[in-house]
Amino acid sequence: QSPALYADNTTPIYGVPGTAKERTFIAVKPDGVQRGLVAEIIARFERRGYKLVGLKLLVPSVGLAKEHYADLSSKPFFKSLVEYMTNGKAPVVGMVWEGPSVIKQGRVMLGATDPKAAGPGTIRGDLCLSIGRNICHGSDSAESAMKEISLWFGGRGEIVDWTSNNEEWVVS
Ligand code: ADP
Repeated sequence: QSPALYADNTTPIYGVPGTAKERTFIAVKPDGVQRGLVAEIIARFERRGYKLVGLKLLVPSVGLAKEHYADLSSKPFFKSLVEYMTNGKAPVVGMVWEGPSVIKQGRVMLGATDPKAAGPGTIRGDLCLSIGRNICHGSDSAESAMKEISLWFGGRGEIVDWTSNNEEWVVS
């Protein structure tokens, strides 16, 4: 099955890793939304020069959360992780960001999974304290980005291919 394409009709919605069209899936998790940190997290990616190409607010279904965290299904915290993502006490903000090395740099900007090990200047290092409430998610590889973007975003129309007038001032 061929991937969903958009705009130029050749670019898959999950982007092209290793190019300026690299894309990653970043989410503000329910604790980040509840704590009013959505704008702060978006601002950090915008100011860095990355381009927002997908954005949605949703309470994920249990199926979506289980699929998203499928690699962790054998972990003891899996059930509570899925419950916390899906209980509707706050939604999740799902985003697709585009730009050079955005998969790796997105992870660097998020900081270590355990906020107590995350460096100052990172989102987790600056804004949270507990591994079970670490406010954000970022794809950890090109394969994860492909899987997660395709999972959270339906295809043409949900991701917008647009040209930023800043681009030549950010990337050369
Ligand atoms: P990351 O989110 O940095 O990619 P993982 O994929 O290892 O990290 O874990 C996914 C999420 O599962 C973490 O962000 C965190 O919310 C939760 N998690 C990971 N380890 C634990 C743990 N030991 N206890 C509770 N929750 C955890």
